Amino acid sequence: MLDSGSVAMISGRGAQGMRDTAWSAFDCLPVGVCLASAAGVIRYANPALHDLLGGADGLLDGRSLSDVGLDGAAGTAVIGERALRLADGGTRRVSVAEVPWTAPQPDGATGEALRLLTVTGIGPRQEAAADGGADDGADGGPAAGAPLVEALMDAAPIPLFVKDTRGQYVAINDAFERFTGIGRADILRHTTFAVTSPGAAKEHSVHDRVLLETEGRVSYEAPICTADGAVRMVKLTKSSFRDASGKPGGVVGAIHEMAEVRPNEERLEAILEQSPVGVSVSRRDNGRIIFVNTRFSELIGLPRERLVGSRARDYYLDGLQRQRVLERLRSGGGVTNMEVQFKRADGSPFWTLFTVNQAVVQGVPVNLAWIYDYTERRSMEEALRDMASRDPLTGIFNRRSFMDMARSQLARAHRFHEPLSVFVLDVDHFKRINDTYGHATGDDALRMVAAGCQAILREYDILGRLGGEEFVVVLPGATADESRVVAERVRRHLARMPIEAPDGVFRLTASIGIAGLDGATDTLERAIHRADLALYRAKHMGRNRVAVYEPGM
Ligand code: GH3
Ligand code: MG
Ligand code: MG
Repeated sequence: MLDSGSVAMISGRGAQGMRDTAWSAFDCLPVGVCLASAAGVIRYANPALHDLLGGADGLLDGRSLSDVGLDGAAGTAVIGERALRLADGGTRRVSVAEVPWTAPQPDGATGEALRLLTVTGIGPRQEAAADGGADDGADGGPAAGAPLVEALMDAAPIPLFVKDTRGQYVAINDAFERFTGIGRADILRHTTFAVTSPGAAKEHSVHDRVLLETEGRVSYEAPICTADGAVRMVKLTKSSFRDASGKPGGVVGAIHEMAEVRPNEERLEAILEQSPVGVSVSRRDNGRIIFVNTRFSELIGLPRERLVGSRARDYYLDGLQRQRVLERLRSGGGVTNMEVQFKRADGSPFWTLFTVNQAVVQGVPVNLAWIYDYTERRSMEEALRDMASRDPLTGIFNRRSFMDMARSQLARAHRFHEPLSVFVLDVDHFKRINDTYGHATGDDALRMVAAGCQAILREYDILGRLGGEEFVVVLPGATADESRVVAERVRRHLARMPIEAPDGVFRLTASIGIAGLDGATDTLERAIHRADLALYRAKHMGRNRVAVYEPGM
């Protein structure tokens, strides 16, 4: 499109000739453009400017800039805001930029000094204007020459770009560089795929292809990454144009920032579709679902057709949780990020952060629900909680969590006047096991002892590791004598249990001391202390035995 021959042709002709030939490149531009003499007489104004003005094409030719409110004194550069005088007598605020421009001459002589103005509307029109003829797009004239195009583009206050028929950028203006933060060196001779995401680039290139085939104009909204790193929705206006020989030359486009982002239904639906959160809308009168997004249908595991019309209540796992949600809704409120369990179509449960609000959509009172799948995060939390309460070597409760749970069992026993007993178990001569088989085998032995105890104990007995090779058990509901039976079983089981060492199996023994509750004011610490005294007695009596605490021990 950068053809200096056509520029020579322009400058050698009169105003009307200019309009008919090279200016048609500007006819496609979505920005108002006008070329005036130094005295301010308009030689050319493109359809977009006529459009802004609300007048028929050609109306501006020969008139002066001041007639339409674009100029003050002749020859004064106009840059800034002006009130454009419209064809119907109203006005409209516009932003005007001007650069001097001299049409090059074929013989190298100095051409006439002209003024190139770009005009963009920034305020609303006073009156609804008729749709001008600018939408017709390119009308088949040859493209303008390079200096003119560049001057025009750089004067424009809005981002502009030109692409050739292969989709490669051949020109961008300063406003484009400022807006996108992309320099000419990074974009010229590249396609949109080099500067934007594949998805967005594909959309742009599809529009370009259609434009080149149909020679029209297109406007659409697209997300664009701006210089400050933000992604903003902008409106893109593009037209195709022809080159000097009349063949399709490429696409010229402008980026308009959207001052007011009006959510339309289409855009809202696109947002809902991309949401990682499940969304459902259900009628308040009968509880039936009237809308779900894709994520919601993925979470439940049912296609939309099955979900729409079904009842929201069917997806709650827990009736109590549902009641809590309903109570809040009945009292006029909503629910925000409540942990609620739902069930999938196959019956499997999943945890969600659940938010519901009431709204009226097209006259129908509805509940708007957002569900965020929380299962993964929750199980991680559970794992962390678990890690904090378990002994890492044996997997049984550590001292702290054992004490917490045992204490609440003891309080319960006091409240209901039920028996409870404690036993402390210590592996005999464990130091020798470490010394003989190594520390790693010692660890294995401790794991085996924990598992051996667990195998014998009842479900509601609580087993913990007090430290080292010392274990502790609380037996709710068991007197000291009943505990002795259990402890004996544990002792025998451990003594028979083969433990693997690198060079064969060995066995170990343990001693156990037992204490029952001593009155209504007994504490866990005191009970464990008495069990310890009994253990000391068991050790003293020769190990591998069970001893019950007796006063005086
Ligand atoms: P007693 O019959 O009197 O209880 O003798 P013992 O050797 O079992 O008693 P002592 O308290 O002298 O020794 C306990 C040993 O347990 C000392 C320590 O190195 C070892 N031990 C403590 N914690 C661990 C552990 O986590 N892994 C291993 N392998 N050994 C441990
Ligand atoms: Mg020991
Ligand atoms: Mg010990």
